[in-house]
Amino acid sequence: MSRVEVPLRVASPDSLAEFVERQSRLFVLTGAGCSTDSGIPDYRDAAGEWKRRPPIMFQAFVADERARKRYWARSLAGFRRMRTARPNEAHHSLASLERRGRIVQLVTQNVDGLHQAAGSQNVIDLHGRIDTVRCMGCGRRSSREQLQLELERRNPEFAALDAVEAPDGDADLDNVAFETFDVPACDSCGGLLKPDVVFFGEGVPAGRVHRAMTALECSDAMLVVGSSLMVYSGYRFVRAMADAGKPIAAINLGRTRADDLLALKVTDRCTSALRVFAM
Ligand SMILES: [Zn+2]
Repeated sequence: MSRVEVPLRVASPDSLAEFVERQSRLFVLTGAGCSTDSGIPDYRDAAGEWKRRPPIMFQAFVADERARKRYWARSLAGFRRMRTARPNEAHHSLASLERRGRIVQLVTQNVDGLHQAAGSQNVIDLHGRIDTVRCMGCGRRSSREQLQLELERRNPEFAALDAVEAPDGDADLDNVAFETFDVPACDSCGGLLKPDVVFFGEGVPAGRVHRAMTALECSDAMLVVGSSLMVYSGYRFVRAMADAGKPIAAINLGRTRADDLLALKVTDRCTSALRVFAM
């Protein structure tokens, strides 16, 4: 198996086109940067640091009722933007590359469903989907849209509040009496409802990782789109690819955790870097 070629650290969409042309089976990993041009804000700045307070931890959501109420109250405002977001050129370019048979698997760290909305078929939602709710007691999945209506009905004073939205459908909302926020329990078992997304401090379901790794083994190159790779759940795929000696290209505005592993780094917005593949 050939090792990674001499690194071409050129920030030009032409060399990205060459990289993609040389490979027949791409494994694509996308992150928040892919959705910023759809109006969904990014978590991290160009140095890979948090732009805002880090999102809620899984442990706090489960153990702390006040933290949970606070999450849902903020999410009431945050979900409004998520549900109206539309795929941007980057999503469409990737869907087009898939239609041309160049993508063996797309794995996304985003929970917005915008790749599917753009027409991508073979998508693994590594961190789940914000449009789905899951009961932690019985596992039943239900629609977030329905829960949103119920939350608005129960909390009219919160429904009117505006807030600055965060990437995961969360929002910044301070100085509010969160303890009055009323969250329904599961209709079937009375269990805790949780958005069907992987929170910080929570593991990605093993089956999902296994499916992605299997696809990765069948691919011959990797393209990272809009991720700083600061979170291990995505970084592990880059590591596996590098260990297999397959080339990796990345599009990201800032630093990534894998910069030293890249054969090609394009420092640009995802929409403009991928425009060469739009059809
Ligand atoms: Zn339940």
